[in-house]
Parts: sequence; C-alpha cells; structure tokens
Amino acid sequence: MSRIVVAGGAGFLGSHLCDYLIARGDSVVCLDDLSTGSRDNVAHLLDSPRFSLVVGDVSEKVELDANTKVDAVCNLASPASPPAYLERPLETLAVGSEGTRRLLELALAHEARFLMASTSEVYGDPLVHPQRESYHGNVDPTGPRSVYDEAKRFAESMTMAMHRYRGVDVTIARIFNTYGPRLAPGDGRVVSNFISQALRGEPLTVYGDGSQTRSLCYVDDEIAGLVALLDSSLIGPVNIGSPDERTILELAHTVLELSGSDSPITFEPLPTDDPVRRCPDITLATSELGWFPIVGLRDGITRTMEYLAPRVRAS
Ligand code: UDP
Repeated sequence: MSRIVVAGGAGFLGSHLCDYLIARGDSVVCLDDLSTGSRDNVAHLLDSPRFSLVVGDVSEKVELDANTKVDAVCNLASPASPPAYLERPLETLAVGSEGTRRLLELALAHEARFLMASTSEVYGDPLVHPQRESYHGNVDPTGPRSVYDEAKRFAESMTMAMHRYRGVDVTIARIFNTYGPRLAPGDGRVVSNFISQALRGEPLTVYGDGSQTRSLCYVDDEIAGLVALLDSSLIGPVNIGSPDERTILELAHTVLELSGSDSPITFEPLPTDDPVRRCPDITLATSELGWFPIVGLRDGITRTMEYLAPRVRAS
C-alpha cells in the first residue's frame, strides 16, 4: 500500500485517478482548490479512511499533516478545458509554475515519485504528424492558448530540472484529449458540448469547418496508462492517448447518431491557435509499458452520454 498525493484530484481526470488508487488499496490525499474540480466528483470517496480531501490552491501552499509519509505525488492540478484556462489565464500560469514547484519540493522532501500530468498542448499546432515525444512542438508563446501550453512546457522543464539537479524520481505523461463520465455539461470541451447540445435538441457547435482532428481517449484507458507510468521507472515524457484520429465534424455526426438527436450542426469561428491535427504516436507507451487504449469511440461516447443525460436534464 502506498500513500499518494493527487493534486487536482477532484477534477475530471484526477477523480478517476483517485478512484483507481483507492480501489487497489492505496491511500490518497486529494489536494484541490475546487475552482474547476468539484466535491461531487469525490463525494463517494469521502467515507473511506484511506481518502482525504484537502481544499486549497497548490500555487499558494502545499501543507500536509507532518506525520503523513508520501510515496508518490501526482500533479494534475490545472484548468484543462480551453474556456476554463482562458477564463483563468494567470491562475493557469501560476499552477503550472509555482504549483508544480511546490509539489516537486514535496516529492523531494519525501523521496517520493513525481508524476507530471503534461499535455499534447506542448506540441502546440504540430507540424509533425503523428506526434512523437521527440518532437519539440510549435507553440506561439504570446498567443491566448500559451497560458496553458507554456505553463505545461515550463512544468516539464521544472520537473526535469528537479530530476537532474535534485535527484527527484520523476515521470512525465503527455495526456491527449480524454473524455468520459465527470466531464461537466458546461465544461466547454468538445465531447461534453456535443453530447449536451444533442440531448437538449440544440445545434451542435462545430468550430471552423470541422476538418480539424483530435484523437479521443476514454478516461478508463487514460487512467490505466497514467498508473502504468507511475508504477514504472520510466522518466519520459511519454504520450498517453488514443491514436484513433477523427475529424471534429465526424465526431459531431457520431454523437448525433448515438443520441438519436435531430439537432442541426452549426459552424462557428475557429478559436485562435486551435491545432489543426493532433494524434499521438504511442509506440513508447506500448513498448515500454505494454499499454494501449481498448475502449472504442462509440462505446465511450455511449458511456459518457449515460453519465451526462440526467445532469443535462437537471441543468
Ligand atoms: N470544438 C468544437 N465545438 C465545441 C468545442 C470544441 O468544434 O463546441 C473543437 C475545438 O475547436 C477543437 C476540438 O473541438 O478543434 C477540441 O476542442 P476541445 O476544447 O475539446 O479540446 P482542445 O483539443 O482544443 O484542447
């Protein structure tokens, strides 16, 4: 049994990670400021003696009970949806830099393993396809998305510096688009938007002409990949995502078909710096961790719809 700190543990991905760790017998200290995460995501864990929720902003301080020995620190603390990080640009930069530094200091003090939840956004609008870990990316450092992209790039740099110069046992996951239950109806990411719109009978808002691509990974697969990386001795960075690349227009049609909705599709302006194509090369994760995603898109969308349907009706 290990004691694992999950920063951002009340968020979409973080709460699924907490579930997985508790289910296998670990103890979890969940740190979250509940700015984009929610207590509801971990409410079912609050009765467990092996789970605790500490509400606070890791950019400001990271303080644990002095007797708490920590074996691993997972840093998933950050707004992740584009509308959420564009609403909180300074907080996003702060959590990627100051928050990451504080969590690395915690890992150093406890000689704990540190997992940095980085992102495919470090590749920006990629000029290489599919994206391998050796590709250095194409990010506009002054564009609106840079608050997220550069925060994560900085976090990767800080993670490697703490490894090289302080000996912290680190690993970096580059997480590609992930979807599933606990995406909030108002989260703003494409899957939750399309499903919520389809269920309400509202138009599905495709940005641009819908020819841009994303490769969507179901949340259970994503978590299995993150845990495999945490349990390994790999440093990385390692892409953890699905190579099943689709256009956004194709995704809209899939959601319409699976929901049985007769919502129309409307086309809205493409956000600035929206990446044109995104697809991970997961050779490294597959060869080193034996990991690859198994849940197909239609299955995953159906499961996500089952989660969102009552919440959309209630909202
Ligand atoms: N998108 C869209 N309609 C929406 C939300 C998003 O067409 O209602 C597009 C967005 O422009 C992007 C893709 O879907 O090309 C994925 O967007 P998301 O915000 O989920 O994640 P991103 O990969 O951009 O961080």
